[in-house]
Amino acid sequence: MEMIGWLGTALVIVAYFPQIRHLYVEKCAWGISISTWVIWLIAGLLLLTYAWLRSDVLFTVVQIASIVAITATIILAKRSTTICPYHLAATEKLKGSRPQRQLDEQ
Ligand SMILES: [Zn+2]
Repeated sequence: MEMIGWLGTALVIVAYFPQIRHLYVEKCAWGISISTWVIWLIAGLLLLTYAWLRSDVLFTVVQIASIVAITATIILAKRSTTICPYHLAATEKLKGSRPQRQLDEQ
């Protein structure tokens, strides 16, 4: 049964890679809410404390992995200075499908 937990932990770690790769390679943070990631970081720190106090190795490992990935995401998002061609095209498509006034209000 513990194998299910480790498999879930591995998937949590793998799940961060596409976002971190995009931030690192493209230097594009389009659509990322830093506030959301900071809240996840605080939640991760609280859950790590809880897991540590309960001596739960599995949840301690998954929280450490999450905290490292979340911290990397926040740092890379704050350093991002460009919009990648994919997201730029998506933005242009959005502008074409909505009146400009709606985009300016967002
Ligand atoms: Zn992008």
